[in-house]
Amino acid sequence: MKNCINCGIQLEDYQNFCPSCGSQQPAADAGANQYYAQPNPDQAYQAYGQQPVYNYDPTDHTAEFDAQDISENKCYAMLPYILGAVGIVIALLASNDSPYLKFHIRQAIKITVCAALALICLCIPILNFLLAIPVAIFEIILFVVKIICFFSICSGKAKEAPIVKSFGFLK
Ligand SMILES: [Zn+2]
Repeated sequence: MKNCINCGIQLEDYQNFCPSCGSQQPAADAGANQYYAQPNPDQAYQAYGQQPVYNYDPTDHTAEFDAQDISENKCYAMLPYILGAVGIVIALLASNDSPYLKFHIRQAIKITVCAALALICLCIPILNFLLAIPVAIFEIILFVVKIICFFSICSGKAKEAPIVKSFGFLK
């Protein structure tokens, strides 16, 4: 026996359509009663091992910024990621009243500082032989992080730079 997913009346297992309201019933082997037992769609998602519909991202600060601020300063916000230190300076000069721009300058400074620190490791004698490959990989990762940040600006977002965000300075 099973219950109609729409009106809840009792049906025989072989009945694919409800005789009372006419709605189609899920296939018997897919756990038919689960549909009726879980009216909350979020619970249903979790029951099937998927992510819930909404997914709160604590590193996404987009909502904290003014939409007009974002649209006006998008282009400036990209500069620190593309041009490095030069872009940071240009963006700083343009950032007088833009929290959105300042946010991205902070992210870009973080990435640039990480990249610089990694390069300094190569100046240490002896260690530089050991560190050459890890540092090279780290620089490539930072480059990818910059690209990710660049595209998040394209879509008007203010997300903390991945990987770099776990370094606790410059909050
Ligand atoms: Zn029904």
